[in-house]
Amino acid sequence: MNRFHVQVPNQRWFEENIGCENACPVNTRVPQYISAIREENYNLAFELNRGDNLFPAILGRICVHLCEEKCRRGLLLDLPISICSLKRASADFKTYTPQQDLVIKKTSKKVAIIGAGPSGLSAANDLAKLGYSIAVYESFPIPGGMLNVGIPAYRLPRDVVQQAIEEVRRLGVEMITRTPIGKELNLENLRREYDAVYIAAGAHKAEKLGILGEDLQGVIHGVTFMRLVNLKEDLKIGSRVAVVGGGNTAMDAARSSLRLGAEEVFILYRRTREEMPVDSRELEQVEEEGIKVHYLTQPIQVLSRDGIRVSGVQCIRNRLGDPEKDGRRRPIPIEGTEFEIDIDLLIPAVSQSPDISFLPEEIGLEISKWDRLSVNPETFETNVHGIFAGGDFVTGPRDVIRVIADGRKAALSIHYYLSGEKLEKKSAYFTFIPEVEIDPDLEKITRQRIDTIPIQERKSIDKEVELGFAREVAVKEAVRCLQCHIFTIFDRTKCILCGGCVDICPKYCFRMARLDEIEGDESFSRLVTSLYGVPYEEAERLNRATVIFKDESRCIQCGLCVKRCPTGTITMEEYHRESTLYRGDKV
Ligand SMILES: Cc1cc2nc3c(=O)[nH]c(=O)nc-3n(C[C@H](O)[C@H](O)[C@H](O)COP(=O)(O)OP(=O)(O)OC[C@H]3O[C@@H](n4cnc5c(N)ncnc54)[C@H](O)[C@@H]3O)c2cc1C
Repeated sequence: MNRFHVQVPNQRWFEENIGCENACPVNTRVPQYISAIREENYNLAFELNRGDNLFPAILGRICVHLCEEKCRRGLLLDLPISICSLKRASADFKTYTPQQDLVIKKTSKKVAIIGAGPSGLSAANDLAKLGYSIAVYESFPIPGGMLNVGIPAYRLPRDVVQQAIEEVRRLGVEMITRTPIGKELNLENLRREYDAVYIAAGAHKAEKLGILGEDLQGVIHGVTFMRLVNLKEDLKIGSRVAVVGGGNTAMDAARSSLRLGAEEVFILYRRTREEMPVDSRELEQVEEEGIKVHYLTQPIQVLSRDGIRVSGVQCIRNRLGDPEKDGRRRPIPIEGTEFEIDIDLLIPAVSQSPDISFLPEEIGLEISKWDRLSVNPETFETNVHGIFAGGDFVTGPRDVIRVIADGRKAALSIHYYLSGEKLEKKSAYFTFIPEVEIDPDLEKITRQRIDTIPIQERKSIDKEVELGFAREVAVKEAVRCLQCHIFTIFDRTKCILCGGCVDICPKYCFRMARLDEIEGDESFSRLVTSLYGVPYEEAERLNRATVIFKDESRCIQCGLCVKRCPTGTITMEEYHRESTLYRGDKV
């Protein structure tokens, strides 16, 4: 007989059932900030975000939103809540300046950070709040890392990045720009002068395609191209541009070329749409701007009429073979399908890697066989005492929210290294909800769309394309949230097993079963033993019990079970997971 598998709820179970929050690398308290937006309390929504992910206005525009993939509404009903855009709404409509009234108790210890990208800035933010003196060394003329030199301004306006940087600076963090570590100043100097060092130097070395002609003039690799665009360097674009790749950098390079005057832009991608890493919303914008994507196409040689400058690219068509290690199907060239395209500029944007050449050998840092600095993945500590590293520098290219998570964890680790104090999250707690308010049209409200500026206005590299939600649209979207952080809590001493909750539930969450129809882990056996006063096997054999259990993943928090229960067994309670609190944080 197939048995129902049940689990006795513990902290982990509760957390896993708040899918969005659990999927976020910094565990942003998503349902709480969405509830705040429903109440039009944008300051609270922003403050909750600022406490967890530090850069809400930035992430609300460009986050890869892993949370939305785990949204219960998306898994159960229709489309996920637009969590990312609601984050932006919290930043758009807040009316206060955060961190103004922070009182920081200073320590005498100093920490140096190499790289002012999101990972370095997030470590700087948290360490400054813990009282350390922080100096961030940055080779570029401006801090921000890829937020300023990678992601284009039409997706992430520069005043938004600037504001986030100012908030970190306001904590007393010193940002020393135009100062690459490895030249006049090296890691050894920093090690002597500071009590700890966090290396967050990113991944800025372009990966090559490895094809003939790649060194010709007019071939500019994606990450370099975006840097030149963003630093407003002089660039010769020409009229026909081909971009190679299927990720963010490729899309950004293609859309930027168009804004900088190219007449025709193609993207060459060696697999199909299904394998493309880029977000569907961005691909939609790429296509509506008139950029043509050639799928199952890969370049095999860069062509030149004069042997100096690119004049074309020879490509071949692919078919897909078996899946590779990452699950994506291998592209296999089809012989005899070669063809040529005339172009003025080729932008290979397939990947980037960290440049570790500035790390002095004498220090003895352990380097992996992939030419990456080795760190303990939990503590971000290298094999050399006092040197920590994180962000894209240790993994290769990822995304902003994951490197912020690295920076925050590394900050905790550096604090432990310097002070011996282990800062842990406070344990979670529940608050009673007297009445759950649920919109009668909850299930009918469709996902709200973000407005964009018309195509004909997308000529400038600095003009933001997405407009964000209007206030009333943000509230409407927030109302769609199923509030998975609210749980039905059962007082089993009151239950008379009438089955009222089973009957009334519109989503068939509850089931009534005999004990021998269900199974569970050790904690379940222990529970049964404590309830019936006999060992689990005995209770099962005697079939003494009927139980009611619930499939939490189907619950929409309508509260009908609470209303129906004749004995007051069920209450609705809100689960609060606290962010790792730093001294001085308000939430
Ligand atoms: C074109 C493009 C588009 C992207 N789009 C998105 C997106 O939409 N969403 C998303 O989540 N992610 C996106 N990403 C990825 C994201 O930007 C990166 O994952 C993230 O910025 C990495 O952060 P980091 O702090 O590790 O490194 P970086 O942001 O790269 O910062 C590292 C900093 O270290 C500095 N540095 C390097 N060496 C030295 C040295 N020796 N001395 C001093 N300073 C040094 C660099 O100048 C740089 O400022 C994009 C990346 C690119 C290139």
